[in-house]
Amino acid sequence: MADATFEELFPYIKSISYPNNKTKHLIGMANMLISDFQGEVPMTVQELIKLPGVGRKTANVITSVVDEQPNMAVDTHVFRVSKRLGLVDQQLTTPLAVEKELIKHIPKELVHKAHHWLILHGRYICLARNPKCGECGLREICVYYKKQVVNKG
Ligand code: SF4
Repeated sequence: MADATFEELFPYIKSISYPNNKTKHLIGMANMLISDFQGEVPMTVQELIKLPGVGRKTANVITSVVDEQPNMAVDTHVFRVSKRLGLVDQQLTTPLAVEKELIKHIPKELVHKAHHWLILHGRYICLARNPKCGECGLREICVYYKKQVVNKG
């Protein structure tokens, strides 16, 4: 891939979102893997975020999924669900702040699993616009539910 041209690589990923940028990033990433990392994908967040197209969230996903490191990738679901449940301070405004607080409180050995629990809960139950509180098993402990549903209801 490091030797590929833009025109050669683009057709393989043209159906995904932002294919132009991602094609450039993939070629840049492949080149950096060879020049700086002896052709091996590094397995620390600090190294991974040096690669083109790799941000903190992606680096956290790679290290936690591939290597079960206690790193928490905070996407839109994790951000929303953590705040609604009250796992983190309601005032937090950035994914990084939420990540740091979750890491502080979730047992290390469970962090890589908790990431998936929170994403799946957000994707299927605690939906952004219409959370399915009626069928949610976490109602009893949910700060959002107590405030929004019980108090108004
Ligand atoms: S009770 Fe409602 S708001 Fe709370 S976690 Fe469950 S679905 Fe989300």
